[in-house]
Amino acid sequence: MMMLQTLVTAKSRMSPLFDSDHPCLIVLVSLYIVFAASAHGDDKSLVRPAPKPVPVESYLKRLYEPENQRFSFTADYSGGFDQWQADARPLLQQLLGLDVIVEQAGDHQPTVEHEDSIERDGYSIQRGTIETEPDIFIPFWLLRPQGEGPFPLAILPHGHDRLGHDTYAGVFHNESHAKDSLAQDRDVAVQAVKRGYLAIAPAVRGLATEADKVPDAYKRHGERACRSHLMHCILAGRTAVGERVWDMSRLIDWAGELPEVDAREILMMGNSGGGVVTLYAAACDERITVAVPSCSFSVIASEEGRIFHCDCCAIPGILEGRQTTGYQRNAF
Ligand SMILES: [Zn+2]
Repeated sequence: MMMLQTLVTAKSRMSPLFDSDHPCLIVLVSLYIVFAASAHGDDKSLVRPAPKPVPVESYLKRLYEPENQRFSFTADYSGGFDQWQADARPLLQQLLGLDVIVEQAGDHQPTVEHEDSIERDGYSIQRGTIETEPDIFIPFWLLRPQGEGPFPLAILPHGHDRLGHDTYAGVFHNESHAKDSLAQDRDVAVQAVKRGYLAIAPAVRGLATEADKVPDAYKRHGERACRSHLMHCILAGRTAVGERVWDMSRLIDWAGELPEVDAREILMMGNSGGGVVTLYAAACDERITVAVPSCSFSVIASEEGRIFHCDCCAIPGILEGRQTTGYQRNAF
């Protein structure tokens, strides 16, 4: 219609070419009408078939080129392993969003509250809560061996288990919870305290029901609290893993000062998502002397460039800063 209107308007201003007696105008209008009718009536001829699936490996390979990974460790790294670690650690902390958390909550003094302790066979168990940043309360179980110590410290973050800290501490909700957990040796805080550790089993942000800080209220994130948590972190320049690492370090701050703890020996161990927390916490917090990331020693992206871990374990930009194709040989 626009084209037709333009032609008619032009007629009043222009030459005899558009005189009403002149056949050119009629021909042009007719052509336009034929063309328009043809275009609208034959859309199918413009529709392309769905594209064939194309291999993405070459694209992913280019994306994750080892040459683009500035902080990959290689045997000839200038200054050797210690220098590589010193160079890489601040970058990792930045990628995790820890710098942002420090900016926003670095002045916060964590507070801890306890319930009464309960005696068990050879140890005591006590429920506590630590406020790791304003209004963020992380519940945990503290399992203390008998005796005065000093005891080595074990921090035991769980993975994708909605009852994770309870599972680790042997606080079972029903028979099947107990049966399954014990069959799979998941009561690791109990095992640690029986081996002489002062053991802490914290609820992990986004992974335990009690530590869901940003649930998927509007069902925009697959109804997965951990993904919802991640997405909201990313908007603020944080990561879910970074917040979890932050919480673990605040627990170490507090527990490391307990008179019965030998802070020279700090074990961190977790399974799956808890292993991811363990890996990154140990890379960032040099107080951790032994790290056991169970069932999480996997790739960030496989050699084909594929991702197998949960979204909540993603660190934006991580492949720019470290070697991750193939197995993670070089954790920060
Ligand atoms: Zn997750």
